[in-house]
This record gives sequence, C-alpha cells and structure tokens, in this order.
Amino acid sequence: MPKWKYFSYNPLSHLINSSVNEIILPDLHIHTAMSADATDDAEEYVNRAIELGIPVIGISDHFDFNPIDRSFGCYDYEKARNTVGELRAKYNGVIKILLGVEITYESPFHDDIVAGLDGKDFDYVIGSIHYVDGVMASERSSISEYEKRDTADAYGVYFREMLRMLDSGLVDIVGHFDLCKRYGIEVYGPFSEDQVPDNLIEKCLRTMIDKNIALEINSSGYRQSPNEPYPGEAIIRSYLNMGGRRITTGSDAHDISRTGSGLSEIGSLLERLGIEEVFIYKNRQPILFNIG
Ligand SMILES: [Zn+2]
Ligand SMILES: [Zn+2]
Repeated sequence: MPKWKYFSYNPLSHLINSSVNEIILPDLHIHTAMSADATDDAEEYVNRAIELGIPVIGISDHFDFNPIDRSFGCYDYEKARNTVGELRAKYNGVIKILLGVEITYESPFHDDIVAGLDGKDFDYVIGSIHYVDGVMASERSSISEYEKRDTADAYGVYFREMLRMLDSGLVDIVGHFDLCKRYGIEVYGPFSEDQVPDNLIEKCLRTMIDKNIALEINSSGYRQSPNEPYPGEAIIRSYLNMGGRRITTGSDAHDISRTGSGLSEIGSLLERLGIEEVFIYKNRQPILFNIG
C-alpha cells in the first residue's frame, strides 16, 4: 500500500473513494481548445480535475512562433488570463488553478519568443523542443527523417537546441525532456543516454540544475510508443544523482479524458526513487509541494 496519500488540505478528499490508492499529483501540463491540437475548455478540465481529486492544475497552451506550427497565431493571452482568473474565483478553495504556457523553443525564433513573452504574467513557462532540425518530433512522419540520419545526428540536434533554450533564460520548466525518443525508438531502438553524443544529456541536466530550471516528468509517454514517461527513469536517476531536486509533473492532456492520465504511475515512480516533493509555480516562483 503506497504511503502516499491525498494532499491533506485537499477539500475534496471526502468525495474520493478511500479504497483508491492513487497518488494525486499536480497536473501542470494541460492544453485547452486554444491549442490547435487540443479540444475542451479550461472549465471542463477544472471539473474533471476536481472529480479526480487533482489538487492543482495548470493551463499551459501552446504559444508558438514558427509559422509552420499548427498553433502559430492561436495563442490569446488576454483570453487565457481572463479565463483562468474567472475560474480561480469560481473554484476558490476547491482547486488551485495556475496559468502556465508551453513555448516551442527554436533558436531562429529566439527574438520573437522574447518579444512574445514580454509583459505577460504567467505562473510558469514550459519550454519544449518540438523539432529535430525542422522535423516535428511529436509526429509519426518524423520516422522517415530519422531513417535518413544516424542516431547521434538526430538526438544531437535535439539536445543542442535544448542547451540553447536553457541558456536563453526564458523558461522555468523543460517540457517532455526526451520527446525525441517518441518516434526515434522506432528507428534507433530503446532510448538511452549512450545514444546521445557529447554528453549532451548530462550537460542539459547540469545546466538545468545550475540555472534552477525544473525537470518535468510528463506522463504522456506512458500512452505513446515509449511506454514510459518523458524523461524515463534512468535520466531521472541521473538528474537526482547530480543533485537535481526541482521536479514538476504533468499529463500533457489534449482533451479532458487525459486529465491527470498517468500521474498515478508517476507517483509510484517518484515513490520508488524516494522523491517526496515536487514543485508548482506561482508568478514564476517555485513552490514546494510535499507529497511524502
Ligand atoms: Zn510539447
Ligand atoms: Zn504540451
């Protein structure tokens, strides 16, 4: 029986079947209909999260700067801020609702990203690498590109861009750290640090620790071909061994049926790794969230 329990202050805990031993973690990675690849409104997510007993959710729609992105031009900051503000008031004391955002970092668009984020009051910015040299890593079509490249080339490109993102100072959290494995594993086999050249994984983790940038454990990988989170356990262990402690959790839901999906597996993983705290963010500041 897991020692982990619902957060003690969760006012809805009496509604939850006490025989359920799920670990309820914050879900800081959620896409609403404002993202071109997602459906459902923020309030529908809030209601689903309340049903599940999730204590904190963060709305983190795509804010993209490359015109080839599906979500390019979709992001409406005023609408997101107002929606979250209204929901916070309506569900005050029931669930914490945060306003995050997920940017795609691509160095050619660095200046546009700086300008796009300027003056906006997010609780946190998730920075994600979605491309391997212009190839969308979250789409199956990336396989044909990988077949033309060797492992070190494809993964090297991905993590070198991540290093540039980490140096940019623009992001609080790295989203789905090793997304490149999603389809990469179908060409290159099981993903491991050894496949990535120049110690780039270690360099990224070291930079994150030095710059206080959080590592997201993203559960969407459980429902995709890797069948493990982004990043997998070995990389999380490396991060911990290097002294990293700033972990966030998210489902990367693109519809309400995925709200909190896979977070109980992540809870078990964190327990196995002896991690008793994760972080949420408010006004770009990390807040410790005890789960032990
Ligand atoms: Zn993403
Ligand atoms: Zn996402």
